[in-house]
Amino acid sequence: MKYLKRAARTAEADQSDVSAAVQKILSEIKINGEAAARCYAKEFDKWDGEIVISQEQRKAAAAFLPDQLKADIHFAHDNVRRFAEAQLATATDFAVEILPGLTAGQKQIPVSSAGCYVPGGRYSHVASAIMTITTAKVAGVSHIAACSPPRPGVGIPAAIVYTMDLCGADIILNMGGVQGVAAIANGLFGVRKADILVGPGNQYVAEAKRILFGQIGIDMVAGPTDSMVIADTTADAELVAADLIGQAEHGWNSPVWLVSSDAALAARVMTLVPELIEALPQPNRDSARAAWADFAEIILCADAEEMATVADDYAPEHLHVQADDLDWWLNRLRAYGSLFLGEETTVAFGDKTSGPNHVLPTSGAARYTGGLSVHKFMKTVTWQRATRAAARPLAEATARISRLEGMEGHARTADIRLTKFFPSRASI
Ligand code: NAD
Repeated sequence: MKYLKRAARTAEADQSDVSAAVQKILSEIKINGEAAARCYAKEFDKWDGEIVISQEQRKAAAAFLPDQLKADIHFAHDNVRRFAEAQLATATDFAVEILPGLTAGQKQIPVSSAGCYVPGGRYSHVASAIMTITTAKVAGVSHIAACSPPRPGVGIPAAIVYTMDLCGADIILNMGGVQGVAAIANGLFGVRKADILVGPGNQYVAEAKRILFGQIGIDMVAGPTDSMVIADTTADAELVAADLIGQAEHGWNSPVWLVSSDAALAARVMTLVPELIEALPQPNRDSARAAWADFAEIILCADAEEMATVADDYAPEHLHVQADDLDWWLNRLRAYGSLFLGEETTVAFGDKTSGPNHVLPTSGAARYTGGLSVHKFMKTVTWQRATRAAARPLAEATARISRLEGMEGHARTADIRLTKFFPSRASI
């Protein structure tokens, strides 16, 4: 393989300043509660209004939105719900007889309370509301809180309020950033303390989730979004270039990578990309230009196998294959957050409307985890029961292993059962 373009920087910036700032905000809100959260909403988002969105505001949001936009939101919501319902069907309970008389099982239990962070500093992430809240609802979470940054003087944009309401948010907070995360984690403003907090966000939100992990569950710590396109000689350079720049728009530090076995296609993409960047409106143009200049890579490979090896190594959040024999790729690839097969689909479909979740592992985390799913809102718990006859070999082996480990108390819980259930048995 050969780099035709290499990233000038990596996204791993010094996080220590962010971490200290976030820790301070979390501590103050932990101690001073709602008053401190309101202060931060004022400081960072210039928001001094009501925190909880009322039923009237939900209705007003619905009345305000054009019908076509509502229809589009319903379309996306239906697709995401259907996909989540199919996932739910795979979350099965079971019971197995391990030994005669010893039965053990597994149950899937949804968490009671979830918080969904919907980012809103720069874009109005309607799709993130759909992805997080719908999935929690399908999983069977009984209380869902959602929060998003308010726009000064306006609050959460109507489209996001409408979407949160449609997808099943029980309570919606006009509060974003660390203060929004903390309000949900600490159960402020009428929120039921979250068992798990999910959703994408900027570095402050991600750091707050990382610090709170343990006190509450989280889906993952997400960094800047990243995307890879694999393109062979069958790919269309114009589509490939558009797909790369569509994802570079996310932010100045969002890497996009092209992996190709076709040098002519790669050269054509490199010519097209600057034209596409200049054609974008601001501020998206600046984001895409910076991401392309500093973080983009173009890698030329000998064949499909080498391209697949590079993809597995990068473990991209989004992986789009525009190449021959899509079934081979589906079977071969091992590390990605979400896979897009063929030019008829694109990452933006997955981001906005098609069904699979867009909250995905970034920065190589796809090596060890997938994205948000109903399973993240569910606990896989186990149970067991035994007949007295089955308890005998268990107790005998347990007592011996416990004594070997030096755990006399454990051994005696086994002994006492042997004595009770089998009083006439010779001692071991
Ligand atoms: P955001 O809602 O994540 O952050 C905005 C909040 O940041 C504000 O409410 C403010 O309170 C807080 N903030 C700003 N400056 C601060 C400071 N100096 N100190 C403390 N808090 C501060 O919105 P955003 O900033 O637009 O970021 C959205 C992020 O979400 C982007 O990185 C985007 O790529 C990501 N995203 C990812 C996905 C995905 O699925 N991977 C989807 C959508 C968005």
